[in-house]
Parts: sequence; C-alpha cells; structure tokens
Amino acid sequence: MDVKGKHAVITGGGRGIGSAIADSLNAAGAKVTLMGRTMAPLEAKAMTLQEGFSVQCDVTDEDSVAAAFAKAVAQFGPVDILVNNAGAAISLPFKKVDLAQLQDMLAVNLIGPFLCIQAVLPALIDQGAGRIITIASTAALKGYSYVTAYSAAKHGVLGLTRSLALEVAGSGVTVNALCPGFTETDIARNAIKNIMAKTGRSEEEAIGELVAHNPQKRLIQPEEVAASVLWLCTDNAASVTGQAIAIAGGEVM
Ligand code: NDP
Repeated sequence: MDVKGKHAVITGGGRGIGSAIADSLNAAGAKVTLMGRTMAPLEAKAMTLQEGFSVQCDVTDEDSVAAAFAKAVAQFGPVDILVNNAGAAISLPFKKVDLAQLQDMLAVNLIGPFLCIQAVLPALIDQGAGRIITIASTAALKGYSYVTAYSAAKHGVLGLTRSLALEVAGSGVTVNALCPGFTETDIARNAIKNIMAKTGRSEEEAIGELVAHNPQKRLIQPEEVAASVLWLCTDNAASVTGQAIAIAGGEVM
C-alpha cells in the first residue's frame, strides 16, 4: 500500500501523538481527516497540512461517530487508514475508582475504537486493502499500580485488535496496536504535575518516576510513535497483523 493519495482518519488528531501522526502521514502524501471533540486545535492542525480536514467527533457516541465518518468520506472519499488515537487516562488507587470512572475509561479507550472500526471496516473489506492502527499503551501489555481502569480498557482494545486481525486476515486489511510507554504529551505532563502536587517532588524527580520503568530512562517522543504508524501503512508491513508493538525503550519484551 502506497500512502500517497490515501485517506487517513486520525481520532484525537489535534494534539499530542495524534498531531505527530498527522504530520507523518501528511508528509507521505496522505489526505488526512482529524477528529476530536474540540474544533479549534483540529482546525489549526488541519491548516498546517497539505490536504487536511477537521470534523467534530466524540468517539464514545455512536451517532457522532457515524456523522463524522460520513463527513470525512464526503470530503476525501473512502477511508483507507484508520488511526484510533483518541484516548484518556486517569490515575487513582483502585479503592477510589468508581463505576462511572471505569465506564469513562472503557468508553474512550475501548468503545471509541470499536465504533470507529465499525464505521470503516465494511468499506475497507470491499476495497480489499486497509490499515487499522490503534494507539494502545504498555498498559495494554502489563499492569501498573493506580491505573486499573485505564489498563483494563487498553487490555480490552488489544483483545479486540488481535481477534479482529484474525477475522479479516484474508481481506487485505491489517489490524495492529502500537503500545507506547510514557510519551511526552499532555497525558505525561499532567501525570508529572499530579506527582509534583501529591508528593512535593521536583519536576525532575517526577519525570524520573515516570521513566523509572523504561530501561532507556527517557520519555518517548510522539514522532517515534508516528514513524511506526507510517511503517504499518506501507506495503512492506502487509504481513504484520494482530500485533501489539511496544515503543517503550525495552520496557516490555
Ligand atoms: P492527549 O491528551 O495529548 O490527546 C488526546 C486526544 O484524544 C486529544 O486530541 C483529545 O481531543 C482526543 N479525545 C479525547 N477524548 C475524546 C473523545 N471522547 N472523542 C474524540 N476525541 C477524544 O493524549 P496523547 O497524545 O498522549 O495520547 C494519544 C493516545 O496515546 C491515547 O490513546 C493514549 O492513551 C495513548 N498513549 C499515551 C501515552 C502517553 O504517555 N502520552 C502512553 C501510551 C499510550 P479532545 O479533547 O478535543 O476531544
């Protein structure tokens, strides 16, 4: 699959990892639709792309997803590449997690990808080619303290990825997950602030705590995740399906 001229939809494409993925697919010549709840960052990002389009979408809402994908297809034609990047994290001791918080984590990190995949899969199968890539997390591959709800949702989306990859293996559509460790975006910046506020530690000490699990002892850069998305979209990655690829400095192996 040559990325040039292909239509890529990136959920949560206005900032963080999604924004870096938009740059990478744009540089390879893709037409890029950015989806998210807040229009201003999406529109600003789309303006920087050669062929960029932004659509409001709450990935947790079935009607919102259906309407957004209809607009995307009307703008740039059938979708070839779906990047399920929209996500959110909460960090709390298990005894403080209530049901609504668990449901919020499942809604954005698991049900969102489910709804977006349902919106594109029939057309991808008809086209005989396509890429579905979900930005999961190392928290999909192992446990960490204080992120039970997030980790449960990310483990769930990995199960969906692996099973769907098998179901569509003969169709030309590949289904994979990327699993970054702590990456330098608002999610990591908020975690650093949270550690500083709760423990009185300095910023350097808080970052040290986040990267303690990473053998390379550094935060992942969004561009490193974006480069793997681009590779998964190429013909050379046609045999790579059902995988959970860790981008985490050797933390998981
Ligand atoms: P950011 O918080 O920087 O960005 C999250 C994006 O998701 C925003 O664009 C946000 O836009 C969008 N989003 C959130 N909720 C919804 C929703 N209901 N509907 C549509 N869009 C939504 O996060 P990152 O860039 O760090 O994270 C991107 C992905 O990578 C997430 O899935 C995250 O779990 C995963 N990840 C991140 C890691 C990290 O350390 N940063 C590590 C491992 C995985 P808006 O609020 O406008 O809707």
